[in-house]
Amino acid sequence: MEEKSFTKPYNFPRRACLMAVLAVGLIGLAGLFLLGRTYLGGRNKMVIDFIRNPGKFPAYEVEALTQCGGAPFLFPSKGFIGYLWGDSFKLFNRHQGIDIFAGTPSGKTPVYAPFDGYLTREEDWRSSLIIRIPEDPLDPSRQIWLYMTHLADAEGNSFIESAFPPGTYDKPVFAGDLLGYQGDYSGNPARPVGVHLHFSIVRDDGQENYLNELEILNTLDPTPYFGFDLNAKVLGRSDIPKCVP
Ligand SMILES: [Zn+2]
Repeated sequence: MEEKSFTKPYNFPRRACLMAVLAVGLIGLAGLFLLGRTYLGGRNKMVIDFIRNPGKFPAYEVEALTQCGGAPFLFPSKGFIGYLWGDSFKLFNRHQGIDIFAGTPSGKTPVYAPFDGYLTREEDWRSSLIIRIPEDPLDPSRQIWLYMTHLADAEGNSFIESAFPPGTYDKPVFAGDLLGYQGDYSGNPARPVGVHLHFSIVRDDGQENYLNELEILNTLDPTPYFGFDLNAKVLGRSDIPKCVP
């Protein structure tokens, strides 16, 4: 008899406690999720609007092969620079490059070399290439690499020019050379990305190798190389990147 009177009052608070912890946890997770999303803010909507109806937003687009003021790099492809260096797509993850959305079907919008260098395409690269620049035009004491990807269709059929087959190493290219076409390859044919070019400037390890471009710390802010505001923190949530010579 005595035991019952003890167990009953203790059962309820324990369950309530558990529910409270669960609720706080869920609210916390939802908050973190929203925080991660709102960081992109207006530009996320701009990208979606542009992809749906590119003809409506000509002011968003930058022409290929144009150059801003005295900036060293040519613009590698025509389109809307929708996502920037430092953008956060998910928590604890920042975008290491810029995304240029063509607003055309896969395989239609050309991609060009932004600067003279040496092109490498590893054996297993369907949609990617990297250009070695022995002297960084903004800091000739170091070597940098230009990484470009999504140059294939959803199934992984490459749009890279036949002059650069898999297993191409250190082949000279010149600013303005045609390299291929923007695609929507994601690695999963069922879920292709929106047609775009991902471009990033990757640091060298000091021994003639490129570092892992997936880490933002291994990449450089492309802003001074193009003369465009391409740093997410500087540009803000709903601005269009502009030439600032
Ligand atoms: Zn990207």
